[in-house]
Amino acid sequence: MRKLVAICFTLLSLLSAETAHAGHTEAEGVAPQKALNLLLEGNRHFAKKGEVRNLSRHASVNYRKSLATAQHPFAVIIACSDSRLSPEILFDKGLGELFVVRVAGNIVGAHELGSVEYAVEHLGARLVMVLGHERCGAVTAAYEARLSGSKVEGNIGSLITSIDPAVTAVMAEGSKASKAELVERCMHKNVEIVAGQLSNKSPIIAEALQKGEIRVVTAYYDLDEGIVTVIK
Ligand SMILES: [Zn+2]
Repeated sequence: MRKLVAICFTLLSLLSAETAHAGHTEAEGVAPQKALNLLLEGNRHFAKKGEVRNLSRHASVNYRKSLATAQHPFAVIIACSDSRLSPEILFDKGLGELFVVRVAGNIVGAHELGSVEYAVEHLGARLVMVLGHERCGAVTAAYEARLSGSKVEGNIGSLITSIDPAVTAVMAEGSKASKAELVERCMHKNVEIVAGQLSNKSPIIAEALQKGEIRVVTAYYDLDEGIVTVIK
């Protein structure tokens, strides 16, 4: 009897591991539009219900073990380090589903580009999202540094330098809008510039885009509503 129970337990473990792995395998090479739909559907659930279904579902012991030797995330998210912006939570996703590149101001330098290339070329991710957000501290700091004309010391200065082209572009428009509005425009311009840099600075990403293997989208996260909106 004890032996039968042990066999049943083993079979059940294998079955549940296989079920988890099946979900995992399904995520391999997910088409860009389907990947975007998965993200937005998850975000709408998070925003409306305030809960993260897949974070617990895709963090079970069996699921975690199914990912131990391989990963096939279906999307790359380039997001700000802001503590209110955790992509897995915003998109209602769990382990192994998103390849997240995070840095203040969601900018891309060589390390970030290399990370995206790795996810696209070796992990099979076919959607890349550059995710900016409302009231971004890094973008605000870049805007304020330009207004004051002061040099930002330390390595934060490097972040500001990377965001500055967006500020330059918005200032060149000569708008008399409020500071909050201008910072929002800088945020939009920043994600647009970053999305362009993906292909301008990475031949690997440019080739994948040209072949239609991947899609790059820009998006905006509304802190008040919890909603992610695709910009382009
Ligand atoms: Zn931010």
